[in-house]
Amino acid sequence: MQTIGHFINGQHHDEHSRTQAVFNPSTGTQDKQVSIASAKTVEHAIASAQAAFPAWRDTPVIKRARVMFKFKELLEQHADKICELIGEEHGKIVHDAAGELQRGIENVEYACGAPEFLKGEFSKNVGPSIDSWSEMQPLGVVAGITPFNFPVMVPLWMFPMAIVCGNTFVLKPSERDPSATLYIAQLLQQAGLPDGVLNVVNGDKVAVDTLLHDHRVQAVSFVGSTPIAQYIYQTATANGKRCQALGGAKNHAIVMPDADIDNVVSSLLGAAFGSSGERCMALSVAVAVGDEVADLMIAKLSEAMKALKYGPYFDKNNDFGAVITAEHKAKVIAYIDSAEQQGAKIIVDGRQAAPTGYENGFYVGATLIDQVQANMTSYKEEIFGPVLQVMRVNNMQEAMDLIDNHEYGNGTCIYTRDGEAARYFSDHIKVGMVGINVPLPVPVAYHSFGGWKRSLFGDLYAYGPDGARFYTRRKTITQRWPTANVREGAQFSMPTLN
Ligand code: NAD
Repeated sequence: MQTIGHFINGQHHDEHSRTQAVFNPSTGTQDKQVSIASAKTVEHAIASAQAAFPAWRDTPVIKRARVMFKFKELLEQHADKICELIGEEHGKIVHDAAGELQRGIENVEYACGAPEFLKGEFSKNVGPSIDSWSEMQPLGVVAGITPFNFPVMVPLWMFPMAIVCGNTFVLKPSERDPSATLYIAQLLQQAGLPDGVLNVVNGDKVAVDTLLHDHRVQAVSFVGSTPIAQYIYQTATANGKRCQALGGAKNHAIVMPDADIDNVVSSLLGAAFGSSGERCMALSVAVAVGDEVADLMIAKLSEAMKALKYGPYFDKNNDFGAVITAEHKAKVIAYIDSAEQQGAKIIVDGRQAAPTGYENGFYVGATLIDQVQANMTSYKEEIFGPVLQVMRVNNMQEAMDLIDNHEYGNGTCIYTRDGEAARYFSDHIKVGMVGINVPLPVPVAYHSFGGWKRSLFGDLYAYGPDGARFYTRRKTITQRWPTANVREGAQFSMPTLN
């Protein structure tokens, strides 16, 4: 059986340690296992990053950017291999993996612009013969901890930006699908990155806690579920580290009476069931304004759902694949059971899913639930499966109140033809990323990504301009080169220009 190790100081690294099973969710078989790093291995990775920092920090930014240009080329050249690794361990269909990779590459493209966005600010003559400028200096060793659902895109939100800014990095990917992440780290090495600038350790809480407590780690980026995000944020900041921790979600779509229902149905299908609903931006709740729109939408959705195909990741005809593990499949089914027990109506039931030839895979079929209420467990918690729940309200304000009262505030969307309603919605809704007739409003790489409320702990969003701020520290320098005629005596009052 293949054992997936770590990547430290430019070398494959393994230790005879604990291991954890890595499954192929499409078949339900275990073909690999991953080494679970001890604290000692993580400390070795931190020490490598620390040792690589001084030279990398002083490498001219254009040279750092050139490594990213080359990295982008290698990601494109090896796209098929990367998508295969994602599909094999995550279960998402290869065309969906290709979309994930492309969104990740866009972050590498943005990082290539570092010579421009790290220029800083300059003011000449802030006083007589005095100039002042602000620099964006790297922090040192920074750590990233990433979730299973985007094993390539979410790491690419983090390390290209951190590294191009002059930091060195220790990444702890999800232990459930680590191979694609390790593979892209090795591609960055091939692109010319010096040893030790990027290190990848596989592991669990032991590895994460080591990163959170080690004084050499200056900052921590986390993406994952909300309880862990909150723990990471509290622990990292209590240890004096900068932290951004992105958490879970419950994304609502408001369907207004004037919406184009055929458009709503086709976009909800992709946004709710694509990637088996294992996206933090998946639309998992459709809030219909009025029974008429609810009934029409449900009729059309349930008809369209008959045509959905699910199965193994390598069959491009499939719309979505398996969920990540057998335990997660059981959890998704338990949420559907609970909705039914608490009085909701199961319109399309995916609980018995078993595609022919892949009966042992971790499949849940697309599921549609009507009459969902705000006090139901399936509504309050994140399901993270191919489940779309429908709620019925009387007007747009009621729909907005539901969204505002939910603990999560990652993404949302309104379907309408009414510009005034859409503008009011985007202006007032308490959610970080808003779509207007756009179901998955994931910001492009040159904006930044983040939710509100318990979907993000920290002050800065991920990637884009906020990413550059997160991975750098401002330093402001005020300079004068005295000449004979500007020599002054001692001054005891606050210096001013008056
Ligand atoms: P998770 O929270 O279980 O794991 C995320 C990371 O934390 C992994 O690397 C894992 O090894 C580590 N971890 C798990 N338990 C830990 C513990 N007790 N102590 C320390 N570290 C621990 O999340 P997941 O199941 O891998 O990913 C799915 C979740 O991620 C969903 O909630 C989803 O909404 C969220 N997510 C959010 C975003 C976003 O941008 N807001 C993006 C993708 C995924």
